[in-house]
Amino acid sequence: MANNRVVVIGTGFVGMSYAYALVNQGTLEEIILIDVDQKKAEGEAMDLNHGLAFAPRKMLIRAGSYADCKDAKLVVITAGVNQKEGETRIDLLNRNANIMKSVVGDVMASGFDGIILVATNPVDILSYVAWKASGLPSNRVIGSGTLLDTARLRYEISQYINIDIRNIHAYILGEHGDTEFVCWSNAYIGVKPIKDVIDSLPNHIKFSDLDKIYLDVKNAAYEIIKRKRATYYGIGMALVRITKAIFNNENRIMPISVYNDDTYDIDNLYIGLPAVINKDGIDHVIKLNLNDNETKALKHSAQTLKHIIDEMNI
Ligand code: NAD
Repeated sequence: MANNRVVVIGTGFVGMSYAYALVNQGTLEEIILIDVDQKKAEGEAMDLNHGLAFAPRKMLIRAGSYADCKDAKLVVITAGVNQKEGETRIDLLNRNANIMKSVVGDVMASGFDGIILVATNPVDILSYVAWKASGLPSNRVIGSGTLLDTARLRYEISQYINIDIRNIHAYILGEHGDTEFVCWSNAYIGVKPIKDVIDSLPNHIKFSDLDKIYLDVKNAAYEIIKRKRATYYGIGMALVRITKAIFNNENRIMPISVYNDDTYDIDNLYIGLPAVINKDGIDHVIKLNLNDNETKALKHSAQTLKHIIDEMNI
């Protein structure tokens, strides 16, 4: 396994925002770009290479083929068709599941033995499809899950209470989609529970005001798509964060789409949970003490995903 190679499959908005962020942050040594539209992958590689003079490190960037996956540590899959205005992520399912099966089949045929990271929507379902199609252990197939939603939540809270985003510790969990929920009972500002922080603020902010934040976060993708037809910078940077956790063996905690283990009472699916990520993929899932509402919300989210998986006969 080449220690420092990532293969990006799908050189559209999301794949290239990810690749561009990788180059700007000097995350690793080799980026290989694959797309069903080979010319597009070639053009993107040329364009990125022309930025190397201004990048923080030397990198090898080129368009490639599935044979290049053999020596990759990480394959990031962003190939798929995009969410259209008014379309839910679940509507995208059938169009993208077949693409995922065929892409993962080609990746595995190369002799690939690394980690697969899925971003294509609906990400929880397609991570499950990718895991099944790959035959890899579940700790080495992960999805971006609710990491982007969590970043949106942290941004909104940070704006609301005027504290640096990096001091906002709060997770969106569950499906990356309509049934996701905020785990408010485990939300902290610095080391202080968010409820205590809000109670101490002088400007009449109430804890119930946070419901609006949740709705804004949940509907963020729809709102962005309405205005610019797609979302890509945020997810590109979120994928880089996961990539760094893997390549730098960070043991970093992030809410991402993982195959459930026995940590929560969830059966045979991928869903957004906080997990420790390192060079092996998922080290373990973190058990949070959820309150009754959150436990119900997680169960509802899991049932929604399970229902789809059962119908799909993957
Ligand atoms: P896009 O249309 O710009 O790019 C998709 C690319 O995939 C295209 O270049 C297309 O040629 C390629 N492709 C299609 N079929 C392929 C195949 N069989 N093999 C290789 N390449 C193939 O779309 P986008 O805006 O980059 O979005 C990509 C996916 O990411 C969508 O499913 C979108 O919903 C999802 N997304 C996920 C998140 C998240 O938080 N997980 C956020 C934003 C977007």
